[in-house]
Amino acid sequence: MNFIETRGNDGIKPVEVPFSEAILNPSTSFGGLYVPAYLPKLEDDFLVNHVNSSYKDLAYDILKAFEIDIDESEINKALDLYDNFDDASNPCPVVKVKEDLFVHEQYHGPTRAFKDMALQPFGSILSSIAKKRDEKYLILAATSGDTGPAALNTFKNKENIQVACLYPDGGTSDVQRLQMVCEDGKNLKVLGIEGNFDDAQNALKQLLASQSFKDELKKDNIKLSAANSVNFGRIIFQIIYHFWSYIQLLKQNEIVYGEKIYLVVPSGNFGNVLGGFYAQEMGVPIEKLLVASNENNILTQWINTGVYDIRGKELKLTKSPAMDILKSSNIERVIFSLFGAQRTRELMENLNNENIFTMSKNETQIVQKYFSAVDSDDSFGLKIIKDFSLFGYLMDPHTATCIKAYENLKKKNLKCVIYSTAEWTKFSPTVLNALNENNEKYADKEALEEISSNYKAFLPQSIKDLFNSKINHSMVIKKDNIESEIVKFIRES
Ligand SMILES: *Cc1c(COP(=O)(O)O)cnc(C)c1O
Repeated sequence: MNFIETRGNDGIKPVEVPFSEAILNPSTSFGGLYVPAYLPKLEDDFLVNHVNSSYKDLAYDILKAFEIDIDESEINKALDLYDNFDDASNPCPVVKVKEDLFVHEQYHGPTRAFKDMALQPFGSILSSIAKKRDEKYLILAATSGDTGPAALNTFKNKENIQVACLYPDGGTSDVQRLQMVCEDGKNLKVLGIEGNFDDAQNALKQLLASQSFKDELKKDNIKLSAANSVNFGRIIFQIIYHFWSYIQLLKQNEIVYGEKIYLVVPSGNFGNVLGGFYAQEMGVPIEKLLVASNENNILTQWINTGVYDIRGKELKLTKSPAMDILKSSNIERVIFSLFGAQRTRELMENLNNENIFTMSKNETQIVQKYFSAVDSDDSFGLKIIKDFSLFGYLMDPHTATCIKAYENLKKKNLKCVIYSTAEWTKFSPTVLNALNENNEKYADKEALEEISSNYKAFLPQSIKDLFNSKINHSMVIKKDNIESEIVKFIRES
């Protein structure tokens, strides 16, 4: 299958490209995104036939339906990475916590957050294509905490790929920072930036637009690529686990085939819930996709009013930082699916030029057929973490935002799967504040120890080891020095 562009074609770029091209060179006409030319329809009994499949077999069959131009052996090699998750036979368990409430735990991979679900196989596939084409790529990442560790972990020592990762010094948790600065691999460069996440992200954007930087890369025959969720190579792996949600409920005899379910997704860049939208379009019986936001409630505003307005808005720093967002990239793919390229280009250009777009009433109602949304604040999240701990389930602050959607938006008496996008260990000071109902400033190490001993919570060895690991990247620099440091890195490695 080929891939097309959400904002239409400029007559210079190819009208369609194969999967390998879309993921290696994700830039498109008019600043759009690549999407599949159509969504494969699966046979009627696809779900029932996969009730006893392993996750890898399910993933393989879904990837095959997209007819991606990747060798079978490379696909299998990529999917084998799920064997490194806590339970190779069930990398993302769906756990019952109440009669109608299930938690899909997406954090059992190497960096303990949901980014591993897609980045682990994606890294393997990207490197294999680059190698096959005999091309070298530099991946630039700016992270507020979860993408960085997951990208470094997947690309370390991968051939034909180098990674430069920028994080805001002081702006991540200790665990997140240590996961980055302790990662070794001669193809990795991790740079702390004096500033906040916006500064890191703006520095990255400037770099991507810098002609001098591109000229430097050209001298070494290095191309730029991206590992964020604008890359369809990540999205494709985020479709699979929504099928898994449904199949697990079938397998656990919680639903009968055809019965609809709700999915609740804590959202930022909208990649995770976009995967659910595609799964629904491909035939998974989903009643509605419930979008959870934090106080940065731009997605709630968009879905509830049809207006996406970031004029004069500033990002708030919350206890669920991976959902702190103003411009959410993947809503564009939904808009394209529902309203086509011309309208997508119009709305996105409005947003770029005026920081606002407004959909018609009819368009808004169409979006609302698929999605409902609600936001919650930190105090709600803290209370939920405490409440659920009392009957033995420990969740992280991102997962907690889902409970608001479960309580407010679930209109029918159907089963509901909420997505747990991070393990409590990644945000342990916040979790301990919730459990102890206080505001103390805990260090991660202290909070991890107290929670694991007092609440008998499992603490993975990889997290414990971080505090005794060698720091391989100690550099913290000013924004102005990023370009020269990265050029130095690609010359040296
Ligand atoms: C990235 C992330 C999210 C947001 O996912 P999107 O696909 O960007 O909507 C939510 N929670 C955690 C813990 C994350 O790392």
